[in-house]
Amino acid sequence: MTIAPVRPATYPAPVRAAVPGVRCAGVPAPLVDGRRVEYANLDHGASAPCLDAVADAVDEFLPYYASVHRGAGYFSQISTKVYEGARASLRAFTGARERDAVVFTRNTTDALNLLAESVPRGTSVVLFDTEHHAALLPWRGRVTHVPTPRDVHSALSEVDTALAESPEGPRLLVVCGASNVTGELWPVAELAAIARRHGARTVLDAAQLAPHRPVDIRALDVDYVVLSGHKCYAPYGAGALIGRADWLNAAQPYLAGGGATKLVNEQLGVSWAKVPERHEAGSPNVVGVHALAVAAKTLGRSAEAVAEHENALLDRLRAGLATIPGVRELSLFDGARERVGVVSFTLDGIESGLLAAVLSAEHGIGVRDGKFCAHIATGRLLAESGAEAETAVRVSIGLGTRAEHIERLLAALRAIVLYGPSWDYAIVDGKYAPSPDPRPLPAFLEE
Ligand code: PLP
Repeated sequence: MTIAPVRPATYPAPVRAAVPGVRCAGVPAPLVDGRRVEYANLDHGASAPCLDAVADAVDEFLPYYASVHRGAGYFSQISTKVYEGARASLRAFTGARERDAVVFTRNTTDALNLLAESVPRGTSVVLFDTEHHAALLPWRGRVTHVPTPRDVHSALSEVDTALAESPEGPRLLVVCGASNVTGELWPVAELAAIARRHGARTVLDAAQLAPHRPVDIRALDVDYVVLSGHKCYAPYGAGALIGRADWLNAAQPYLAGGGATKLVNEQLGVSWAKVPERHEAGSPNVVGVHALAVAAKTLGRSAEAVAEHENALLDRLRAGLATIPGVRELSLFDGARERVGVVSFTLDGIESGLLAAVLSAEHGIGVRDGKFCAHIATGRLLAESGAEAETAVRVSIGLGTRAEHIERLLAALRAIVLYGPSWDYAIVDGKYAPSPDPRPLPAFLEE
């Protein structure tokens, strides 16, 4: 078999535009044949590499690192200032209203679970059943699942109906900004407007949107936004819930403990603090929060360059995939919907898990395979695609992606279609791995 090459690998100028640098740039990865190549990190959607600006800011701060809210010392004051100052950066990054609370969490999952614990008793929740598990599962028992229709127009009318039919009382619509399976953008503003008409609030899961596109609470007219630092190039363990304070202030603290209290008496009677402290019990993750704030400022400043860089790479990736026989790209809506740099696909004749292992072991390319914590969405799209596959491969691009990574991926896929894997593979702990696997670990992992 021969495969015609795609159009020449030239990219429009924007892909060469200056975008913020990341720490994994140029770092080599070993291959099973003994060579080393620059690691092509095509898994930004799972966790993005650390921004240089974030790592530098953390290094600069660490000598001053001390307790937050708890110490009288100079360094404690600095740490508290850094922590509290980060709220303004998140506020600016998300276009929050003045009265919105900024509560720091571990990640998006944590933020959504906090909100789920805080909604008033009897709140009915409406969401599409194709959501990521972090958005799908915290509301079990009080949720209406709307099956995702094939087009955006029907999605709007399905939500309209579901909200109209939901019981009287508080209502919440959970909306995804960008699908973690297909990268497609959801019509957030339109959905939030429908919710508003029904007196419902909207929470935007911006886990996949915020690293790639500006998020504006006011323009979208949503009530809450949740996001993760590690997907926004700030891998130090912080995330955020930003939005209306009233439900959060009326709820029991998410965690009981120090920092969330104003007063505790001998009978263990507690007077709880208001948000944000109410839901931030325990010593806060000031390093993570500082990292998140620096990432927010950096991404906020570079939004245009980020989108241009990613769009050029994404166009090339999708055009290239379309020329490879047996590739089936998954799409929620029609293939033309605007999307961030996430593409999931199957390749006929090779299991996705094996394909991902080959890309890593023989080509130094990191992708993800599976159902991406969105089992309903991925399962449905796989069935609709006609693939005889139970899982897919996901390529997700971002600031660490270079044109050469995309070219390497496309060349690798063509070689796999023509010749298959060049190494042996076995299932180890439920996943495909090269057998044997001679790739050395970095020195810091050696005994
Ligand atoms: N929502 C979406 C759309 C996601 O893609 C993810 C993670 O992949 C999450 C929520 C959960 O994010 P985290 O694992 O950072 O809590």
